[in-house]
Amino acid sequence: MTHAAGNDQLTFQDPVTRFPDITPPVQDQPEPGLDRELVPQTDRGHDSYRGTGRLEGRRALITGADSGIGAAIAIAFAREGADVALSYLPAEEADAEDIRKVVEGAGRKAFLFPGDLSDPVYCEELVRGAVRELGGLDALVNNAGRQIAVEDLADLGDEQWQHTFDTNIRAIYRVTRAALPHLEAGSTIVSTTSVQAYQPSPHLLDYASTKAAINTFTKGLAQQLAPRGIRVNAVAPGPIWTPLQVSDGQPKEALPHFGKNTPLGRAGQPTELAPAYVFLTSPESSYVLGETLHVNGGTPMP
Ligand code: NAD
Ligand code: MG
Repeated sequence: MTHAAGNDQLTFQDPVTRFPDITPPVQDQPEPGLDRELVPQTDRGHDSYRGTGRLEGRRALITGADSGIGAAIAIAFAREGADVALSYLPAEEADAEDIRKVVEGAGRKAFLFPGDLSDPVYCEELVRGAVRELGGLDALVNNAGRQIAVEDLADLGDEQWQHTFDTNIRAIYRVTRAALPHLEAGSTIVSTTSVQAYQPSPHLLDYASTKAAINTFTKGLAQQLAPRGIRVNAVAPGPIWTPLQVSDGQPKEALPHFGKNTPLGRAGQPTELAPAYVFLTSPESSYVLGETLHVNGGTPMP
């Protein structure tokens, strides 16, 4: 089939080759990893994401917004017309500053809130600060998460179990609860779960358990908030190339094969996630509640 020249590159693209089939070298970063130091670099949409006003005037709080999927969400939301509050760990200031520049380049406001989501005080302060700076809140994206691979249950200690649960699911409960009094009808909550909620890897027991919990929390809360006009949904990424993977998210020897066992045959790039979050946050998904949208390169899900 042939296509007229002009729009081809934007509207007709082979998903197998749209992004490169990467073979990352074995590498290590302390937790949390930095996008700045990741090899190869990721595509978070800096040069490609085009907004069409789908989130014009919205006020969004995004956790884990400095890097990876959260950074791609922040870039997309800003180019769709939203102002954003960015949550991240203090060690990620450099990545967060990069994203601030992209958001401001789109003519939107970015407010930075470094802190640790496993700290209940920060969860409350984050929401208070975001509401104050944004002048309200109508979109929450619970995206932050930690993933530390441990091969043997005998080595999976109480401290790691607790830290993973505090960061990945308890913070969602705390931030969402703090945000609720500010959310009016039309507001949205989207949380990042994972393919791991459905197909747990043997070395990610604590992580996968939190992702299953996020799915269940999402489905229950969606029903509770539906009558108030607040929609709650989730996105379940498959293997996406981000700093999470090199800061002990995977066994090191697995990195060169990352994502190659998907039907598309390659890892996903963070920017490929952004349209799912935009869809679930924009009013065009008004009849979609309690849903988990899979963005995983084709791995079948129940
Ligand atoms: P990432 O490392 O770029 O982002 C994760 C972010 O979580 C970090 O940037 C950090 O700011 C934040 N975070 C971690 N611990 C925190 C804490 N204690 N306090 C505050 N913030 C904290 O990696 P990513 O892959 O973009 O991860 C984003 C989300 O996507 C996570 O929830 C992750 O579980 C999920 N996910 C990722 C993949 C993948 O293959 N990359 C697959 C499925 C789900
Ligand atoms: Mg980061």
